[in-house]
Amino acid sequence: MTAVLDARNVTKHFLIGHNQRVQAVDDVSIAIAEQEIVGLVGESGSGKSTFGKAILGLHDKTGGTVTFKGETLPQQYGPADFQRYARRMQMIFQDPYSSLNPRMTVGEIVGEGLRLHSNLRGREIRDRCADWLVRVGLQADHMARYPHEFSGGQRQRIGVARALVLEPEFVVCDEPISALDVSVQAQVVNLLDELKSSMGLTLLFIAHDLSMVRYVSDRMAVMYLGSLVEVGRANDVFFRPKHPYTEILIGSNPEPDPASERGRVSTHIRGEIPSPINIPPGCRFAGRCPKVMDVCREQTPELIPLKGESGVDAGRQVACHLYT
Ligand code: SF4
Repeated sequence: MTAVLDARNVTKHFLIGHNQRVQAVDDVSIAIAEQEIVGLVGESGSGKSTFGKAILGLHDKTGGTVTFKGETLPQQYGPADFQRYARRMQMIFQDPYSSLNPRMTVGEIVGEGLRLHSNLRGREIRDRCADWLVRVGLQADHMARYPHEFSGGQRQRIGVARALVLEPEFVVCDEPISALDVSVQAQVVNLLDELKSSMGLTLLFIAHDLSMVRYVSDRMAVMYLGSLVEVGRANDVFFRPKHPYTEILIGSNPEPDPASERGRVSTHIRGEIPSPINIPPGCRFAGRCPKVMDVCREQTPELIPLKGESGVDAGRQVACHLYT
């Protein structure tokens, strides 16, 4: 597999006060192939968005490297780096309400990236914006309107147009559907799926609705308390989870398609996700895991290929002492 984006051992810690360290992301490695969609899932507080921002330079990395098409990206971005990579790597943000400037028209919002990062000017920018509004299911004359005149789903389409008008090669979708109604979520996911096929996009799709992630993703990566716990093909992970956390996360996820509900065991996760401050050694899921063993509290499990992989589970990696 030739990776478009290769994140290796990416770590992001935030220092807060004396000797306190929020371990938001620890040693996370993911390689994403051209035109691949990788879904990144986990509870709120698992570090998914921080990881997405760290690979785009919106957070400085504490450790690790990110390579984009063979080029190592800076550890810490300066203004020239943003200018350099904005055309090629973009982000679609979670909240379609706060991510659009209410004082700018839709045309100004969608065209801003072109004004800053392309040679297009005046009419060319207007034409490109009009074209993109139509591509995302809006109308060209919406350019003159303001964000408050649109519904949540329409605003997210504006956010999609803003990110894709530059025709980037890689996009991080940071929970692009979580603020939307279920019916609108499906529309936005279908739109991204269509655009992926027509533009050959490579995407990291961050979300906590696992059924939507399964639908849209080629592979799925599961994150818990800053670490990756399972990676594999989306259907394998969703229908045959190996890690106890993935199993419980999927069991607790309402499945909109009743046909695929058959045979699934409904579960719920015990307690709250622990604090990411000064995390002790051992498995991070030990305090909530129904299968915990003594070794789990002493040794940190590493993400390793599943032993005895079958064709079904090819490429599956799991971080759990049940498989070591
Ligand atoms: Fe559970 Fe142990 Fe596996 Fe962690 S390593 S998920 S505690 S069985």
